[in-house]
Amino acid sequence: MIIKPKIRGFVCVTAHPEGCAANVQEQIDYVIKQGPLNGGPKNVLIIGASTGYGLATRIASAFACRAGTVGVFFERPSINGRTATAGWYNSIAVEKKAKEAGLFTASVNGDAFSDEIKKDTIEVIKNGPGKVDLVIYSLASPRRTHPKTGESFRAVLKPIGQPFTAKTLDTDKKKVAEVTIDPASEEEIAATKAVMGGEDWEMWISALSDAGVLAEGARSVAYSYIGPEVTWPVYKNGTIGMAKEDLEASARKNDSRLRASGGSAFISVNKAVVTQSSSAIPVVPLYISMLFKVMKDNGSHEGCIEQIYRLYRDQMFNGSRPKFDEVGRVRLDDLEMKTEVQEIAQSLWNEADTESLDEHSDFAGYREDFLRLFGFGLEGVDYEAETDPNVDFEA
Ligand code: NAD
Repeated sequence: MIIKPKIRGFVCVTAHPEGCAANVQEQIDYVIKQGPLNGGPKNVLIIGASTGYGLATRIASAFACRAGTVGVFFERPSINGRTATAGWYNSIAVEKKAKEAGLFTASVNGDAFSDEIKKDTIEVIKNGPGKVDLVIYSLASPRRTHPKTGESFRAVLKPIGQPFTAKTLDTDKKKVAEVTIDPASEEEIAATKAVMGGEDWEMWISALSDAGVLAEGARSVAYSYIGPEVTWPVYKNGTIGMAKEDLEASARKNDSRLRASGGSAFISVNKAVVTQSSSAIPVVPLYISMLFKVMKDNGSHEGCIEQIYRLYRDQMFNGSRPKFDEVGRVRLDDLEMKTEVQEIAQSLWNEADTESLDEHSDFAGYREDFLRLFGFGLEGVDYEAETDPNVDFEA
C-alpha cells in the first residue's frame, strides 16, 4: 500500500515503517557522531522504550554505550491492512541495528502496569543479560488498570481548583484559539496520580529487586517536566503536575531502596519536545512552537536524542555524581528555562494569533517533528512507493 499520514486531531493514525526506521537511524547516527561514552551502563531496562524519550534512551544506551537493552512498550502490529503504530516499527528498527552491532536486545510488548508483563520482563532479563544496571522509567499513558485491585483509572489533563482559560493551538487546523478547561474533580486528580504517578515505578523496582535481576549499584531514572508559568495551571499545578509530584516522592523511596546496594534513583526533568504524549496536552503545543523558535534562533535547540545523550555524557557517565537541583532532580531543562529564553517565549506568546503564527512561532518545525514521529518527511524515503505495512520482529 501507499502509506500517507492520516491525522485525526492530535494523533496520526498511520505510520510508515521505512520512515520510522530512517528516524531511528538518524538518532543512531547522531549518537555515533557524538562519540562513545565510556563507563556507561552494561545492560539497560527501558520501560516505555518505543517512542519519544524512551526510544532515545534505548538508542543512546545501545549505540553510545554499547549496552544491552530490554525495551518494554505497548504497541500494535499491523492488522487488517492498517499500519502498525510508530513505536512498533521503531522498536523493530532498533532491534535490527542493535543485533547487527552485536548487542543484546529484547523487547516486551504489553501493559507495563500489569504483574504479568513485569514477570515476563524479569524472565527476559534472566534468560538474557542476567541483571540490569540501569532502569529507565519513561511511560506516558492515558490509562492504567491497577494490578492488585483491577480498578481502571483514566488520566485527565486539567487544572485544579478553578477553570483555566488560555490560548491553545489546534495543530491540525493551524488555528490559535482560546480554550477554557474546567477544574478536575477529586476523583480525577486521584486517577491521574494512579496512572502517571510513581506507584508503578516503585512496583517495578520492587519486582526487579526481589527477583534478583538488579546489578550491584543499579540506578533508576524517571523523566518529568515542569515548564513555564503559562502552562502551569494545566501542567505543573494541574492534575499531571500532582502526578509528577507523586513520581518525585517515589524517586525518594526507590532511592532508599537502591542505596542499600550502592545504587540510586532520581528524576530527570527534561525539556519540552514534540512527542505523541506532549501533542495531547492543551496549551503545550503552542508553547513548544514558540520555544522551538527561540531555541533554534539562539542555537540551543535539542530533541529527545540530544537531551538523553547530554544526560548520559554530562550527568550520569562522566565519573562524578550528577548535579542535582535543591530537591534532588537533574535539570535537562536548564537551557529551556533560561530567563532570556523564557522572556522571548513569553512575548511571542502574548503576540501569537492564527494570522501571525508563522511569524511568532516555529509551527513549521513543530509540524515537521510531529510527522516524523510517525515516519513521515524523512529524507531518502520514497513515500510514493508500495510499502508493506506488515513488518515483524526477527525471531
Ligand atoms: P511517548 O508517548 O513518546 O512514549 C510513551 C511510551 O510509553 C511509549 O513507549 C509507549 O509504548 C509506552 N507505554 C504507554 N502505555 C504503556 C503501557 N500501558 N505499557 C507499556 N508501555 C506503555 O512519551 P514521552 O513524551 O517520551 O514521555 C515519556 C516520559 O517523558 C513521560 O514521563 C513524560 O512526562 C516525560 N517528559 C516528556 C516531555 C515532552 O515534552 N514530551 C518533556 C519532559 C518529560
